[in-house]
Amino acid sequence: MELQQRVNLFLGIITMNSTIKKKPTRMCISCRQKIVRITMVRLQQKENKILTYQGSGRSFYLCHKCIDDEKKIRRLSKRFKEDFRQFNKFLKELVENG
Ligand SMILES: [Zn+2]
Repeated sequence: MELQQRVNLFLGIITMNSTIKKKPTRMCISCRQKIVRITMVRLQQKENKILTYQGSGRSFYLCHKCIDDEKKIRRLSKRFKEDFRQFNKFLKELVENG
């Protein structure tokens, strides 16, 4: 391997590592894509109710794309046995309030 190629490879690995460190990603429960965590909504299910993450227990993430997709929200509300309209409103409010 040429020296320049080695340097490029080395720099490439460093860039890759630092990108991962700066922006941790989480998998969206709906589309299963890995997305930057800070752009996602963290939720948990407690006593059959979906809430924002309370600091303990099992949690999951939803990306904004899925929150904007009514079909996906409908599917999720079925999965969690939530009322679609209430669940949808809850998510939209979450996004609006950051
Ligand atoms: Zn998603």
